[in-house]
Amino acid sequence: MDTKRMFELSDKHLMTFTKRYPVALVRGEGSRVWDSNGKEYLDFTGGIAVTALGHSHPKVVGTLREQAATLVHVSNYFHIPQQAQLAQLLCEHSFADRVFFSNSGAEANETAIKLARKWAKEHGSSDRGDIISMRGGFHGRTLATVTATAQEKYHHGFEPLPGGFKYVAFNDLRALDRAIDSRTAAVLVEPIQGEGGVIVPDEGYLPGLRKLCDEAGILLILDEIQTGMGRTGKLWAYEHSGVAPDIMTVAKALANGVPIGATLATEDVARVFTPGTHGSTFGGNPLATAVGVTVFSTLIEDKLAERAGRVGTLMLEALEAIRAKHPKAVKEVRGRGLLAGLDLVPPVGDVVAACRERGLLVLTAGDNTLRLAPALIVAEKEVAEACAIIDTALKAAAP
Ligand SMILES: *Cc1c(COP(=O)(O)O)cnc(C)c1O
Repeated sequence: MDTKRMFELSDKHLMTFTKRYPVALVRGEGSRVWDSNGKEYLDFTGGIAVTALGHSHPKVVGTLREQAATLVHVSNYFHIPQQAQLAQLLCEHSFADRVFFSNSGAEANETAIKLARKWAKEHGSSDRGDIISMRGGFHGRTLATVTATAQEKYHHGFEPLPGGFKYVAFNDLRALDRAIDSRTAAVLVEPIQGEGGVIVPDEGYLPGLRKLCDEAGILLILDEIQTGMGRTGKLWAYEHSGVAPDIMTVAKALANGVPIGATLATEDVARVFTPGTHGSTFGGNPLATAVGVTVFSTLIEDKLAERAGRVGTLMLEALEAIRAKHPKAVKEVRGRGLLAGLDLVPPVGDVVAACRERGLLVLTAGDNTLRLAPALIVAEKEVAEACAIIDTALKAAAP
């Protein structure tokens, strides 16, 4: 289809829930993508931290082809071998004993909230059900998860919002301590706030959260939808902290772009779900979980978390050098592994556009933060190339 005609159809028939760049990406390979006019870009968005193995990874393509030609969907009334295998992999490589599969990050968090509330009812009193989440966090767009997302801009117009949610400042243990009461069921938090601007908390924050939750007898839910799957240099970001959650949600990179979500829990917590309490039609179907098995096995065999840590350190050093060169345009560089944020002075949209014109795709986050989330297989050479483009884009956007 002609590119101009496609833009017209998009404008005419799609709900305008987001602003789109005037680009249609039609093909990808590794860390590179091509648009409908044949222009090549370095992809440092990874489809929002999704395509961890890059585009058209041969193993992912192979599994997709094979599984699509064998069995795509059956429903959870039947055992699904790929689902059992992916659950085993996730449990063997995390704190968890059991997994529930769904189709997105929001659905994984919805499941976590329902699970925590049910657990709290069975381990306390019937009026326990409050979820405490952190200001500036992001947990999804369904009604419950958008309410857990403590940012007014995502709530506006959607009231009445579901009850039972409380907010405290991120990285503030004392505020959390004050907020926990007899109605609290769980604390829901990202180990690093992604959409909120790549905000890395103090080193003692996660251990402090764990301690407060243990003292109050409530659950700690970690949303690792963006930070998990090796992105920060460990398989799970909580591994940097020495403590583990009771529930963890995973999605984005788990099947490299095939929709999937997973809610992981300890045996003690998972046991409150019994036949009939929860469900999902598509969740954990053979296609999504077959790809999940391939992605997860590749991540482990190719030691991609370690790689993300090593290449991520180089990337953060290069970005720090860019900050030193442009002190009036870049306020701060934050991040861990291959998740980085640059707080900018010039409008981030101008810098994103200047990067795109020069063949680099990047994300935004928070108020005015440029966010990078390349594939974990990104070459060091490509990181250098991307940083050189950011350097010239900053010169152009903030002369
Ligand atoms: C992306 C994201 C979500 C929502 O995932 P969807 O698949 O868009 O529903 C939730 N939490 C975090 C931390 C995310 O980054």
